[in-house]
Amino acid sequence: MNPIYASLSDTIFDGMSALARETGAVNLGQGFPEWDGPEDIRRRAADAVMRGPNQYPPMRGLPHLREAVAEHYARLQGVALDWKTEITITSGATEALAAALLAVLSPGDEVILFEPMYDSYLPMLRRAGATARFVRLYPPDWRVDPAALAAAFTLKTRAVVLNTPLNPSASLIGAEDLALIAAQCIKHNCIVISDEVWEHCVFDGMRHTPMLSIPGMRDRTIKIGSAGKIFSMTGWKVGFACAAPALTEVFAKAHQFITFTTPPMLQEAVAFGLAKPAAHFDEMRQNLARARDRLATALHHEGFVTLPAAGTYFLGVDLAASGIPLIDTDFAVRAVKECGVATIPFSAFYNRAPERALVRLCFAKSDATLDRGVEGLAKARRLLA
Ligand code: PMP
Ligand code: GLN
Repeated sequence: MNPIYASLSDTIFDGMSALARETGAVNLGQGFPEWDGPEDIRRRAADAVMRGPNQYPPMRGLPHLREAVAEHYARLQGVALDWKTEITITSGATEALAAALLAVLSPGDEVILFEPMYDSYLPMLRRAGATARFVRLYPPDWRVDPAALAAAFTLKTRAVVLNTPLNPSASLIGAEDLALIAAQCIKHNCIVISDEVWEHCVFDGMRHTPMLSIPGMRDRTIKIGSAGKIFSMTGWKVGFACAAPALTEVFAKAHQFITFTTPPMLQEAVAFGLAKPAAHFDEMRQNLARARDRLATALHHEGFVTLPAAGTYFLGVDLAASGIPLIDTDFAVRAVKECGVATIPFSAFYNRAPERALVRLCFAKSDATLDRGVEGLAKARRLLA
């Protein structure tokens, strides 16, 4: 069997959720909201199942949805996209990432990844025959070091994979760092695969900056979004890839032989949801920020030290600063097995172990679940500190 897949373990997210189910632990690990998304969007999907469409939609996605994606990004991010030539609907961002890597890369190419990085990037780019060069970002600011970035580029660099807001650090890559990355990509004629699935989950009045909006990047960026994140329905697996026509043309060729299409009734419902007014997304952000603050305040009360969380569903906990002398994976395993709370160790997002022992908590949960999670974590701190 192919050695890249044969040597992989199951994802940390699946593993931790399985342990939580087995042990009955509170699951603050895998990133999914405890509630289902908007009822009107779900009803729209249910109606579409009964009324149709239920047959193959066009390979690039329902025209209606592609138009809705273009309208959504024009209205909320000021990015103008031609729905006919610049948008492809995929089965989640995970498929879009795979298709983008397969479409862009050839064997021998190099790709720059920022650590921490989402877990699918590295195996998929290796499977495309490419190799990775890593640029590490450091807490608490997770800023890009210009010298480290410049040193990562070689004559073989073909692409940069970017994630903003960044999972798991919950930081945003600001306009200044995006411009730095853009300048290097223009200089070295590289493409950016910009994973922006957390684009609507940004708090405290901060704003997401799409890489497509950075001067010089319009024709060399593949922007990836996810309805699962936008509407708090992570199981829906409807994603979008937005890129200039020449990139979309090849991207769609990769997509057509991975899934070919994505369930049309979900596409129908996502199109309806994307037309929601800005106030809908503001309310979602306010609810998430409230949950983040509840969790952070309760943890501080128990003696934990947390990292800033400007976006995503995630709050980082600094174990050493919280008085817990364990590496992140040991803590995560003991916390779920002995203290009834599942977390995600940051090291799952690194090629080589990170310097600081950090764990990630998902706060997209009810107050009762967050409170039970804090009880488990407080027990872990008493036991393991
Ligand atoms: N990229 C990042 C950074 C993610 O956090 C996730 C899932 N949380 C994905 C991609 C995958 O998104 P999807 O479920 O739409 O495939
Ligand atoms: N992206 C989600 C997270 O970060 C999990 C996705 C998955 O389970 N593959 O928790």
